[in-house]
Amino acid sequence: PPAENPQIVVDAHHLPYLDSGLPVQQRVADLLSRMSLEEKAGQMTQAERDALTAPGDIAAYGLGSLLSGGGSTPTPNTPEGWAKMIDAFQLRARATRFQIPLIYGVDAVHGHNNLAGATVMPHNIGIGASRDPQLAHDTGAVTAAEVRATGVPWDFAPCLCVTRDERWGRAYESFGEDPALVESMETVVQGLQGARDGRDLKDGDKVLATAKHFVGDGGTAYGSSTTDSYTIDQGVTEVSRQQLEAVHLAPYQEAVDRGVGTVMPSFSSLDLAGDGRGPVKMHARADMINGVLKGRMGFDGFVISDWAAIDQLPGDHASDVRTSVNAGLDMIMVPHAYKRFRATLVDEVRAGRVSERRVDDAVSRILTQKFRLGLFEQPYADTSGASRIGSAEHRAVARRAAAESQVLLKNAGGILPLKTSQKLYVAGSNADDLGNQTGGWTITWQGSSGDITPGTTILEGLRASGGEVTYSKDASAPTAGHDVGVVVVGETPYTEGVGDVGNGHDLELSAADQAAVDKVCAAMECAVLIVSGRPQLVGDRLDAIDALVASWLPGTEGDGVADVLYGRLPFTGQLPVTWPRSEAQLPINVGDTSYDPQFPYGWGLTTLTTVPSGGAGTLHTLGVAAAAAERAGADHEGRAAVTKARLLVQQEIGGHITAAVAGPFAAADHLLLTGRYGEAVRRLTEAYRQAHG
Ligand code: BGC
Repeated sequence: PPAENPQIVVDAHHLPYLDSGLPVQQRVADLLSRMSLEEKAGQMTQAERDALTAPGDIAAYGLGSLLSGGGSTPTPNTPEGWAKMIDAFQLRARATRFQIPLIYGVDAVHGHNNLAGATVMPHNIGIGASRDPQLAHDTGAVTAAEVRATGVPWDFAPCLCVTRDERWGRAYESFGEDPALVESMETVVQGLQGARDGRDLKDGDKVLATAKHFVGDGGTAYGSSTTDSYTIDQGVTEVSRQQLEAVHLAPYQEAVDRGVGTVMPSFSSLDLAGDGRGPVKMHARADMINGVLKGRMGFDGFVISDWAAIDQLPGDHASDVRTSVNAGLDMIMVPHAYKRFRATLVDEVRAGRVSERRVDDAVSRILTQKFRLGLFEQPYADTSGASRIGSAEHRAVARRAAAESQVLLKNAGGILPLKTSQKLYVAGSNADDLGNQTGGWTITWQGSSGDITPGTTILEGLRASGGEVTYSKDASAPTAGHDVGVVVVGETPYTEGVGDVGNGHDLELSAADQAAVDKVCAAMECAVLIVSGRPQLVGDRLDAIDALVASWLPGTEGDGVADVLYGRLPFTGQLPVTWPRSEAQLPINVGDTSYDPQFPYGWGLTTLTTVPSGGAGTLHTLGVAAAAAERAGADHEGRAAVTKARLLVQQEIGGHITAAVAGPFAAADHLLLTGRYGEAVRRLTEAYRQAHG
């Protein structure tokens, strides 16, 4: 505990809720029965740490939670700085009648991305490209360990958005455009929260996760306005009931089944065909939050609003409060006017417009998670795991993730992998820029270019590989004497809205990037890497490019990109989204009636020269076959069946596939390619049984 002496108002010892030996449900009921309405309303209030007018407000208003919005970091921005800050807040929370601990939350969406020196993972779009559920799990586990070691028990991740329009500025927060792919990556929930892997939230390296943004955030329509950056981001998702279920809701059932502790509704509105309501903000949709999420799906965690999202509802503040709480929101990310929110909620209950039963339900859900996290027993930061932050062990996971996320779109003449005997000419805006390769949500909310946190750039990764490397950012004088050019181009960081405003939101490469590609590719054989949160338009320029790689936003470990470029690891990534030919094709998604992209969903070449008899090669073959099934236009059910069968095999037998099962696998590949999914799944199951004797 921190040095400052806590001012305990009432000694709550010996009350049943403090007995860690009792079942959580009993502890919750006991504590709830003692709380006043004001105390309950306080638990439902989340303030931004910067918004606190006085630290004493935490106790005075009995706040249930604080958050650091993106980039809201302590000084110094070190593990100790975080732990000290949170402990000081916690001390205040403990100076209340019942000593109810705060639950502190951050957006650690690709590693503990607000903390300087943390291990920064590829953004979700790259994890989706890997098609590797174990990797998603492992990145979650590293993130959780680094976050919890700074005293933070709650992470507003993962984003389960199914991105349907690449002009959306949050496309990179999505695992992909296919709900089955998003579902398959939800192993990340166990990485963050534990439980199915035998560890749980009480462990010093696990955090509470948040599935967001419920529901349809990735489906907002591109509006007519090009000036309002939120037209897409926080706009309207217009769908039929069937599309809503199949595309946007499906990933939530999986998350609920995996025990995700919290869910955050989306800023966007839902316009559900046939319900006659027109667009209604998700924060007001009782049918979706109470009805579908908490009712039909059986979600028993708590629902946290998005940032000031209730202010976007029609009506005055009192109406915002009652509408959202009655719709099923349990805690409101206010995040500034926390005094007003708490007082209004109390008034609404007293006036009978929000029932006390609803409040009790909300507070029970919140307290349940606090007990599950062990916060009553261990409210202060346990920094014993801090030495693992940014450690070699954690960076190795991020490096593997960077390597697995790379998608080889074109490889004419097999110019990749590179050889260390070749002389490289490296150019482009994103070859040597750590900020650009980590993207948004890194150190600051929007992210920024430059040396913002320790890591290796792609150029540094190439240089460390042993070959001769010349570098010129703007590709000045790319002359003979070099064997291969590597041009790394793409976006600059952005968060929310429509994205890279420097480029507009038309997905065009910048003029400087286009010039660099043209110059280098005219002078020598060239590989072009696109470091971006979403596809960039390459168009006819593709003809002049020998090898093209979608690098996404690979994170702090540029070495991982060099691993696949130099062939230390094979390229195995597959497109998690469709790669369009032109702006006019947008939005474009697999299954569209006229589908003619530059590269289809699931596309990805491999540099595996031989398929080893072990698991990885065979599994990759399966992955390619499944992608082919997707390209051939399998329906959602068919694709989901294939993905699930593949996952089952991958998780259960991993690398231990023997010659005995190679036959059924090969047959399944064939069946997948010819669209006979049911039969393929049976073959896969057979292979699975054989592998288990
Ligand atoms: C974002 C959320 C995020 C929240 C808290 C909002 O602007 O939409 O994804 O969790 O801020 O930082």
